[in-house]
Amino acid sequence: MKAIDIFTAYYPELTEKLQERYPDFLKTASETEVIDWKEEFAVTDRNPEAIDEVMFWNTLLDSGLITREEWERQVRKLPPASKTVGVAFIETKEVAFRQEVPDKFVLVHEVGHVHFGEVDSFWSSTYGGGEILFWLGVKGRYNIPEAGIRLFMKLMRRAYEGKHKEVAEEIVRACSPLWGKQIYPHFYPICLGTGWIPEGACEWFELNSPEWEKVEVKREDVVGFFVNLTEGLKYGDSFWIEYARRLGIIER
Ligand SMILES: [Zn+2]
Repeated sequence: MKAIDIFTAYYPELTEKLQERYPDFLKTASETEVIDWKEEFAVTDRNPEAIDEVMFWNTLLDSGLITREEWERQVRKLPPASKTVGVAFIETKEVAFRQEVPDKFVLVHEVGHVHFGEVDSFWSSTYGGGEILFWLGVKGRYNIPEAGIRLFMKLMRRAYEGKHKEVAEEIVRACSPLWGKQIYPHFYPICLGTGWIPEGACEWFELNSPEWEKVEVKREDVVGFFVNLTEGLKYGDSFWIEYARRLGIIER
């Protein structure tokens, strides 16, 4: 059985929307084999405790008891979090589900791993990954082409893998024209323009001050930029929407 068979048999409405918005995703689903679930999948790739732990750290973050930096450090230490309900083998284009008919979110999540070829750090909605954009696109909240989702995950990955200064420069180039002279073209004042205060913006200057040049851009803040961007899109924040457009992630 292929993953597409589950889509068409159990989620016809979703399949129709996917056909309209992300046809290539369905193409991958038709090439992805659903293999039998084995208990060791739960042990090797999944860790239900991790979900509870992510939620625990989220609570601390939300109540301001820890910094985002600390949250990142803790959450990145955890094994891939999932509800032990599915697994994807990107290389061999195989997925397996604990239940015969997986929940549609689980189905999309696992096929998404195969389709986009990304690990949870950049795909999973738990980590603020591309999966969030995918669903916003499916729901028609924004015009998010598949290329926009891929671009988003690529930028996030590059930032995470140490190219954060380069990525920050790209963000500044794309987003600073929005502000003109009101905001100095540097990563931190650009972030502050949305109302988000990254950890690294610890020194405070006027938003249009060239003194921002002295502040070194931190990796976790650039990764955090993308997590915040997904949050901003979820809540319909006009600044984040505009940033996403200027970065080429969503289309007008
Ligand atoms: Zn996953």
